Amino acid sequence: MGVGHLSLKQLTLLASLMMASVFVCCYLTFRFFWAYDAEVEQAIGLQQEETQRVKTVLDIQKTELAKSLIDYAAWDDVIDFIDGNNPELLTDSLNSHTFETRRVSGIFIFDENVSLVWGRRYDYLLDLNLSFEEVRYKFGPLLVDALKARTDKITPFVKFLVLDDRPHLFGTSRICNSEGRDCTHGYMMFIKPIDNEFSRTLKNATGIDIEILTAKENTHPLKVNKPNTTVLEKLDYQNRSTVCVLIKHSVKLPDFITWGELSMLFAFAGFMFVFNLSVAHVMVRPIKRARLALNSIQAGERIVSVEEQFISHEMKDFVCRINEVYAKLDEKQQELEWIARHDALTKVGNRRSLQQHWYALYEQSDHGFACVALIDIDYFKPFNDNYGHIEGDSALSHVAKQLQTTSSKCDKFVSRFGGEEFCVVFTSKTPIDVMHEGEALRQAIEQLHLDHQYSPISSYLTVSIGMADCQNHSLSNQKEVLQVADKALYEAKEQGRNRVVAHQY
Ligand code: GH3
Ligand code: MG
Ligand code: MG
Repeated sequence: MGVGHLSLKQLTLLASLMMASVFVCCYLTFRFFWAYDAEVEQAIGLQQEETQRVKTVLDIQKTELAKSLIDYAAWDDVIDFIDGNNPELLTDSLNSHTFETRRVSGIFIFDENVSLVWGRRYDYLLDLNLSFEEVRYKFGPLLVDALKARTDKITPFVKFLVLDDRPHLFGTSRICNSEGRDCTHGYMMFIKPIDNEFSRTLKNATGIDIEILTAKENTHPLKVNKPNTTVLEKLDYQNRSTVCVLIKHSVKLPDFITWGELSMLFAFAGFMFVFNLSVAHVMVRPIKRARLALNSIQAGERIVSVEEQFISHEMKDFVCRINEVYAKLDEKQQELEWIARHDALTKVGNRRSLQQHWYALYEQSDHGFACVALIDIDYFKPFNDNYGHIEGDSALSHVAKQLQTTSSKCDKFVSRFGGEEFCVVFTSKTPIDVMHEGEALRQAIEQLHLDHQYSPISSYLTVSIGMADCQNHSLSNQKEVLQVADKALYEAKEQGRNRVVAHQY
C-alpha cells in the first residue's frame, strides 16, 4: 500500500515521525563525523602524553641506577679491592646499608678476566640474603655490553631482566679509575628490583595508575588491547619482551553517546514529533474544511459559505476559485437546461417543454378554462422549394416570435410541435373566446407580410389553425384533445387554408 492511500491524519503522523527520526539520525551523524571524532582525537593525544610521561620517568629510573653504578665502578678503592688490597671495602661501602640506599638487590664485582670477585643478592626490605644461583649462569650474556665497551671512558649500560619471575633493571659497567678512565680493571653489575616501591615511585611521579608485569617467551599476558590502557614492552638483555608496563590512563576515551545525552535527545525528538504533529494538524485543517464545504456543495448548497473560516490566503484563494468554478458550472447548467427545453431555431419551447407545461397545467387543477391551437404554415413546401431553406428557417423564426408576442387575454404557452407546425396552449380563469384568440394569431401572421408568391391563396405567408376548446382538467386527456385540434386543423386546410376552425372537446 503506497502513501497515496493514507488519510491526511496518517500522513501527518508519518511526516512527524519522519521529521523526528531524521533529527535523531542527523544528530548522531553529526556526533559521529564531527564532535565525537574530535573528542576521541583529543583523548588519544592526552593518553599519548601520559605514555610519554611514564617513559620519561622510566628513563630517569634507569639513569639513577646508572649513576649509582658509576659511583662504585669509577673508584680506586674498588680496584684495590679486586687486587686484594682493600678488604675493608666490604664492611665500609658494600654492606647492607649500601643495598638499601641504592635501592638495589644485587651487586657483583668481576676482575678483568670476568671471574667473580665478590657478589651478593640481598633483599633490604626483608633483611634477607638471596641466592644468586639463577643469575650466576647469566653473567656471560649480562656482561656482553660492558665487555664490548670502550676502555678510555666509563660507560654504563642499563637493561631489563627477569629474575625469579620478577621484573628487574640491571646495570653493567667496566671498572675504571676515579677519573672514569683506564677502564681495564674489571666489571661491575647492579641489579635493581622493579617492585611495588618502584611502581609507587612511578605512579607518584606521573600521577597515572601503572602495573608492571613479566611475560615468559611467547606467552604475552597483555597482547589483547584493552581500551584506555597502553602496554609498554621492555625488552630484556636477550631482546625478548619480558617486562610489560601496563598504563591505565586517567584520560578515558569518550563514550559515543552518554545515557544522559541519549535521553535528552529522545525527549527533544519526542517534543519535535508532538510539535510537528500539531503544526501539520493545523496545516491540513483547511483541507478538511474544504472537503466538508465540497460535501455541502454536493448536498445542494450553491456556494462555499465558510470562506472566511479558512486560514492562509492560499486556502481562501482556493475556496474563491471553487466558488467561481461552481458559478460557471451553474451558468452552463442553466444554459443546457434552456437548450433542453427550447427549440434551437425558433427559440420557443420544444415538444419536451410542451409536455412538461401541459402536465403542470392539469396538475394545478384550478378548474379553469383552456384551449389548444395547432398551427400549420400554408404551402410551406413550395416556400422552401422556391426561396430556399435558409429563408424557410427565417420565416419559421418570424412566425414563432409573432405567435409569442401576439397579445392575449389568456396565459399562453407557445411551442414548436414539429416541422412547420406550432402548438399554443391558452389557459384562463374565465371562459375563453376561442375563435377570437385563433383569429388574433392568424391575423398576426398574415400581417407579418412575409412574401409568398408561390402560395395559391395569398401573396403573403399564411397559417391554418385548428383549435380544441376545453376545460383545464380536460388537459389530462392530452391525446384526445390534440386529436380534436388536429381534426380542426385538417378541416381548416380542407376549407381553403388561412383560416381558424374550432371544435369543442
Ligand atoms: P400544406 O398547406 O398542406 O401544409 O402544405 P405544405 O407545403 O406546408 O405541406 P407540408 O405541411 O406537408 O410541408 C411541410 C414542409 O415544411 C416540408 C418541409 O420542407 C418544411 N419544413 C419542415 N421543417 C422545416 C424546417 O425546420 N425548416 C425549413 N426551412 N423547412 C421545414
Ligand atoms: Mg405540415
Ligand atoms: Mg404546411
